[in-house]
Amino acid sequence: MESQDTILVTGGAGYIGSHTVRQLLKRNEKMVVLDNLSYGHEEAVPVGAVTFVRGELADSSTLESIFTQHRIDAVLHFAASTYVGESVSDPLKYYRNNIAAPLTVLETMQRHQCKRFIFSSTCATYGDPQKIPMAEDHPQQPVNPYGASKWMLERVLKDCDRAWGLKSVFLRYFNASGCDPNGEIGEDHDPETHLIPRVLMAIAGEIPAITVFGTDYPTPDGTCIRDYIHVNDLASAHALALEHLRKGGESTAVNLGTGRGFSVTEIIKTAEDITGKRVPVEYGPRRPGDPSELICDPRKAKEVLGWEAVHKDPRSHIEGAWKWLTGPKRGRYSR
Ligand code: UDP
Repeated sequence: MESQDTILVTGGAGYIGSHTVRQLLKRNEKMVVLDNLSYGHEEAVPVGAVTFVRGELADSSTLESIFTQHRIDAVLHFAASTYVGESVSDPLKYYRNNIAAPLTVLETMQRHQCKRFIFSSTCATYGDPQKIPMAEDHPQQPVNPYGASKWMLERVLKDCDRAWGLKSVFLRYFNASGCDPNGEIGEDHDPETHLIPRVLMAIAGEIPAITVFGTDYPTPDGTCIRDYIHVNDLASAHALALEHLRKGGESTAVNLGTGRGFSVTEIIKTAEDITGKRVPVEYGPRRPGDPSELICDPRKAKEVLGWEAVHKDPRSHIEGAWKWLTGPKRGRYSR
């Protein structure tokens, strides 16, 4: 067993996980990345700087060997399936990957008395907004299996706290976007469904056009409003959540957003402004399950973690994503 405290990062080869790993390296953290590469990319892992294990969350022998070889003092849990639409058509995949599989991680943690867990949760655990902006005490009534699976794992974590003292921070992300400004790592989903990358893909000619899902919402320009949170701001929140638990902090839930909302049309206009190119736009019907507005109340994150978003304007998200798309990797890791 190695003597230095080590963080286990599940899903560390994915979009948000890989950005967080980079930030934690700057803080001299030692890490083991566990990823099955079903969504993640090995190229996104700084091999040499961290230990990379390609394996399944649900494989107890893989977990046991990680916890035996390393002194794991905390787990950052990113690994998950995250497509809302797919979760509706294939709910069991979501309940298996997002609830059943992490149980093996938790069982291993319990055996090894590792009691710190940072969980990538989501504003989708709230369901349709009853009040804007949304604070952590907003009712949790998820409207799709993705949100439900994340909400259920929060419940599991609370029960583990009561039973054996596991301390968790639930980080409820709003709309993650942007890329590290160095252009080396970025967002590479297959399929890509998110607004900002798709707008830029349309500009780059990779897709014929962006379809705006609904123009009849009760918002000033009729399109949906979201709170876009930069991936590096999410990464810094993870570092602070870890600090909170290492200092003996209690389990808590924290929203991560900027507190400001931008419409689909505003995002398209900003992308045109940054790139100097026109976005080919088509207008389509509403996407099922999309609430008109999601805006975070970020005050608790500041109070509890001392965290605040740095990138409050989606300009910097779009600039980073454009650099990634037009950079040497052209927005894609090798497959
Ligand atoms: N959106 C859109 N066209 C697209 C993708 C997204 O109009 O091709 C809209 C979507 O309806 C939502 C917003 O952009 O209002 C953000 O969607 P995204 O999929 O990026 O994130 P989500 O809000 O689903 O987490």
